[in-house]
Amino acid sequence: MRKYIKVNKIKFKDNFTVEYEIEHSEGLEYFNRNMYVKYDNNISNIPESILVIPLLSNLLPICWFLDINLYLKEIDKDFYLSLEKIKGGFQSVYNQINMGGHIYVEKVIENNYKRVNSALLFSGGVDSVSSYINNVKKNPLLVIVRGADISLEDSKAWKICTDVALDFSKNNNTKVIQIESNFKDFLKGKKIAKNFEEVIWHWWPCVQHGFGFCGLIAPISYTEGISDLYIASSFTEETNIPWGSDPRIENEIKWGETQVHHDNFNRNRQEKIKQISNYVNKTGNQIKLRVCWENPDGFNCCKCEKCSTTMIALMLENLDPKKFGFELNDKIYEHSKRCLTRGEWNFTHGGIDSWDYIKKNISDSEKREFFIWLKNYDLNLAVKKHHVFYNKLRKKIVKTLRTLK
Ligand SMILES: [Zn+2]
Repeated sequence: MRKYIKVNKIKFKDNFTVEYEIEHSEGLEYFNRNMYVKYDNNISNIPESILVIPLLSNLLPICWFLDINLYLKEIDKDFYLSLEKIKGGFQSVYNQINMGGHIYVEKVIENNYKRVNSALLFSGGVDSVSSYINNVKKNPLLVIVRGADISLEDSKAWKICTDVALDFSKNNNTKVIQIESNFKDFLKGKKIAKNFEEVIWHWWPCVQHGFGFCGLIAPISYTEGISDLYIASSFTEETNIPWGSDPRIENEIKWGETQVHHDNFNRNRQEKIKQISNYVNKTGNQIKLRVCWENPDGFNCCKCEKCSTTMIALMLENLDPKKFGFELNDKIYEHSKRCLTRGEWNFTHGGIDSWDYIKKNISDSEKREFFIWLKNYDLNLAVKKHHVFYNKLRKKIVKTLRTLK
């Protein structure tokens, strides 16, 4: 018998929380528990054909990549019609993998609702703030999601994330919508990715997070009348790495009256910083950026690669990082230079590109010593040095562990 997954039951834990029960053929041991999503809106009147979308947007890539058939009762018509195109998007990102899997559904239902709002997935970092400014005329609702970059257990980081979004919404006269879900952890990402280890190093960033994030918004797009949903790009066309968030995937996503947009793909990180700078100068609305994921106890750690790149990028635009939520220390130039030349940063998430964008934006008349140095520094050296640094560090850890034994 062919491999299959079946959506058995969609049930409400209360008026705000939906839980999904699935069954599957033997051998598909890819799930830890049922997936749930909790909203701050009452979702008890949402049709099942919309309510199933959060689950499907996290389940379907598994079916396509692993050639598994999916069975369910009801689906929204526009979502159903967009699926082949979304699958095609994944196929172009990962052309080495043959996408398979079919969806068998009993009823396809057309859903209509008011189109009065737009929404933006918001983290408070450079990408999403820049996307907000990009769509400022529509004044999108800000959607924050607990259970993704911020784990469900981390209340402290969630509080900071919520405060940043609330603060931003107050200054910009919009509203924050909170969602909580175990959508990242209900499945065994590592085990799924192992089937494709040559091309996919982690299921979440490489496949799940774009489509999976967007799908969570379906139920509230029905209650809030959302016509357009924006997800901020992390990269541009120039960054040629296979990534789970890609315009070829997200621009194809539709359901009910809602269209998803992979936003700001034409701007690199330095151009986004410039866009934020222009907005702050024009409106006088000061913005606090939250870019750091390495500081469990606070805001921006101001030491990691992401914090340092952002601070330097702001300084290149003659902006004061302190005003943007960074505790600036006078050693930032020295610190960055040391980390780059010693290879202490690992440049995941397109980090080296961010440095390259900074480098390319340094003008010939620049007087600051650090920027003159950076303009002439070969960034490939920083990447090479990182491998040497990493191997040394690994040897040191193995040695220490042996002594402990
Ligand atoms: Zn940091």
